[in-house]
Amino acid sequence: MTADRRRRAPRAAGGLRGMALLQNPLRNKGTAFAEAEREALGLRGLLPPAVLTQDQQAARVLHNLRRMTDPLDKFVSLNALHDRNEALFFRVVMDHPDEMMPIIYTPTVGLACQQYGLIFQRPRGVFVSAQDRGLVADLLRNWPHRKVGIIVVTDGERILGLGDLGANGMGIPVGKLSLYTALAGVHPELCLPVMLDVGTNNAALRDDPLYIGIKQQRLRGPEFDALFDEFVAAAQEVFPGVVIQFEDFANLNAFRLLEKYRERVCCFNDDIQGTASVALAGLYSALRVTKAKLADQRVLFLGAGEAATGICDLIVSALVDEGLPQSEARRRCWLFDSKGLVVQSRADLAEHKRHYAHDHAPTADFHSAVEHLKPTAIIGVAAVGQAFDRQVLEAMARINARPIVFALSNPTSKAECTADEAYRWTGGRALFACGSPFDPVTIEGKTLVPRQGNNSYIFPGVGLGLIAARARRATDAMFLAAARALAEQVTADDLAQGSLYPALARVRDVSAHIAAAVVKVAVADGVAGVQRRARLLPFVQSQMYDPRYRSFV
Ligand code: NAD
Repeated sequence: MTADRRRRAPRAAGGLRGMALLQNPLRNKGTAFAEAEREALGLRGLLPPAVLTQDQQAARVLHNLRRMTDPLDKFVSLNALHDRNEALFFRVVMDHPDEMMPIIYTPTVGLACQQYGLIFQRPRGVFVSAQDRGLVADLLRNWPHRKVGIIVVTDGERILGLGDLGANGMGIPVGKLSLYTALAGVHPELCLPVMLDVGTNNAALRDDPLYIGIKQQRLRGPEFDALFDEFVAAAQEVFPGVVIQFEDFANLNAFRLLEKYRERVCCFNDDIQGTASVALAGLYSALRVTKAKLADQRVLFLGAGEAATGICDLIVSALVDEGLPQSEARRRCWLFDSKGLVVQSRADLAEHKRHYAHDHAPTADFHSAVEHLKPTAIIGVAAVGQAFDRQVLEAMARINARPIVFALSNPTSKAECTADEAYRWTGGRALFACGSPFDPVTIEGKTLVPRQGNNSYIFPGVGLGLIAARARRATDAMFLAAARALAEQVTADDLAQGSLYPALARVRDVSAHIAAAVVKVAVADGVAGVQRRARLLPFVQSQMYDPRYRSFV
């Protein structure tokens, strides 16, 4: 090895050598450090003599994971790998998304959050608590990376379908940012998970001696708002231009925080806008099969929360973009909540539901609503398992040649119907998407492959696009463009087998197309910090993280 290469090696390794290098997850390659690197970086004797390739290391990780039977053990093991060797962790996740996503994200991440106090090992992200008023910028400055491009922040009040998990909800931003990297190549150093610990109203957690959060009732009202305001301002001060994704806030904060900040900083709420985009993409795919127009649809939602009204709002944006007046567009969407059909005569409606309260008789059961309204599509986002029963599905099949049925609720026990039920009770005619994974179904000799209408098709690409564009705002037009870009990635073969989304194995490519679409809108709408470019796809692809090891010598 030349003296020059020997001199360059420590700089390439971020100024680290010896044990400090092995303990740095961003630079550590473990047994894959080459002979020359070991010599130049003071690693001789600290590693066993054999030099492995990253492929061999990945095979070893997979072998060990597959021996485990408990999903939570797999989660802990993968997390430990993430803490030791980030590149290897992402290599394994990227090469096996179908197998790894259910471990690092839903459903296992839900279990992990419930047990967070037990499995917590190393901090990953910043914890800002109600006791840190006035200090939030200092806390953010303690994070070791300065070039943060995206923050995922939660207050842990509505974790998946599991409710208030307080500070244990940190598992969600951590998992979500792993998906930003794995599914869209957002560089790990750009990602910062934040837990805004404002207390928990979950008494069992407050009584748990291993609970990692502050043991007090949740902050509400002006105190909550002041802390949140300070957090948003501090994030912009410490990481100028950072994108902020609001995650798993309960309804009472989710809608108003989005309204309050969307015109001030680059932020979005994935539960509302990401879900909307993925669902609209699914509708566009279904319409490629039925050859109908979006304007001809009547969509009935079971549920009227963040997901349902988010999807309605985006459908309306899409229809207005196609030339329909807003009031007409809203009439294409109907909501059904825990009290029945959302109609004008109801006095109990929260603000976010009112746009979709139409003039109609009150209707208390969902099946009657289907019979009266004759929807072309039903979308389940109420977390009420089995709500699309045989009667509902048979009615949909009677009303429509190709009924659109999306059972999007999570986890699997909350799915409105299974894939098997959706296909069986519609004679194989349902255009079906699900929120939980279901196996292919063979019906009348034809095998149908249901795919998940999961936000993870959307938010990683949107995040990559916002960062690449240096966007000052995240707009509805971007989520609309993302939905269209996702639908365009669905092939004729996908549709022929009943799949309304592309294969997960293609997700990085899909994310790159979504990111390019987002950059295009950002530039066109004057909210980008970059110039117009002729070739957007290579522009975003050039910014995507590659987990293969780089040589330090
Ligand atoms: P939310 O709490 O904001 O809304 C739930 C809604 O369901 C509320 O409007 C409530 O009134 C309604 N509801 C409750 N019980 C009902 C009943 N018996 N009949 C009719 N409506 C009832 O929650 P959300 O964020 O909208 O999420 C809802 C579900 O959708 C969850 O299961 C969530 O996991 C799932 N989801 C899936 C995806 C995905 O990518 N597939 C994305 C977002 C949300």
